[in-house]
Amino acid sequence: GREWHLVARPRGFPSPEDFALREAPVPAPGPGQILVRNRFLSVDPYMRGRMNDAKSYVPPFRLDAPMEGGAVGEVLASEADGFAPGDHALHGLGWREYAVVDAAKAAPVDPAAAPLSAYLGVLGMPGLTAYAGLLEVASFREGDAVFVSGAAGAVGGLVGQIARLKGASRVVGSAGSDEKVRALTEEYGFHAAFNYKNGPVTEQLHRAAPDGIDVYFDNVGGDHLEAAIDALHVHGRVTVCGMISQYNATEPTAAPRNLAQIIGKRLRVQGMLVQDHQDLRARFLEEVGGWLRSGELVSRETVVDGFGNAVDAFLGMLRGENTGKMVVALDG
Ligand code: NDP
Repeated sequence: GREWHLVARPRGFPSPEDFALREAPVPAPGPGQILVRNRFLSVDPYMRGRMNDAKSYVPPFRLDAPMEGGAVGEVLASEADGFAPGDHALHGLGWREYAVVDAAKAAPVDPAAAPLSAYLGVLGMPGLTAYAGLLEVASFREGDAVFVSGAAGAVGGLVGQIARLKGASRVVGSAGSDEKVRALTEEYGFHAAFNYKNGPVTEQLHRAAPDGIDVYFDNVGGDHLEAAIDALHVHGRVTVCGMISQYNATEPTAAPRNLAQIIGKRLRVQGMLVQDHQDLRARFLEEVGGWLRSGELVSRETVVDGFGNAVDAFLGMLRGENTGKMVVALDG
């Protein structure tokens, strides 16, 4: 089977030459393991961080070895209790066509309950990030006015819709194209949205939320965070989920210049990691699954076909080519 290796550590925006497609033998599963033929791979912003040789909450990818990441596929062979050939599994050994996975690190998924790709997006890690980040980390309450950046992405699109469904007084989003902005207001039910490339974020946020905001869900950092600090009410809350505007930076980036407002406004600014919130998973699946079935929540995804296009999908996601979750569909 084929696998994608990282062969050079990117400096700045990654280039296709940092990656190589290589052939490797498909081993048989050992005791407690399963052999999975991957059907969908996830490409995620955090993978950019793992390409650097830097200490972080996840270890760096090794060079000349297959990268890792979320994947769903079909079990071809099993030496583990709980999995049989023909079952489907969610696991962490993406970026390869075939994966031998410790069954303890795989979760069974039901392709009859939802399309397989949904377990990488709306019903998977990004979905739980949105749910926990809004409801738990930001302590969202009915009547809050919410602003989310990266609003047309996997996490952001859900944050805005969950806020709407939970009774937000106003939901505002920002995204990087006019087409995405249209999708936010016309499909996702945001009250207002703006294209951050069309002008200063502070001014555009002020127009979109003239009465200010109670919660900011940050996926972007930089000038978005600065604008949100200006717009937040006293006792406002910020979930710092991601800062994608800085992931390819080669120099330390400018801080928001207005951090002192945190004092007078008594803001709560809290970082999060989704893995800390597994206790919410059952409630999240029940509630979000219900909204999907009733049609109250829409979930778009951008599917790139072909294992050979996985790096292009990753780079495209970093450039904003996705609306909703970016996934790679493997051939066959
Ligand atoms: P998305 O589906 O949102 O895809 C990334 C998007 O980022 C692109 O579509 C692009 O959209 C936007 N983007 C790229 N560069 C910039 C930039 N310079 N400024 C503003 N926007 C930019 O990805 P996810 O939903 O998977 O992730 C969203 C955020 O959440 C990321 O920051 C990620 O790191 C974080 N995250 C954090 C987790 C945690 O546990 N803390 C877990 C999961 C995700 P556009 O066209 O709008 O520019």
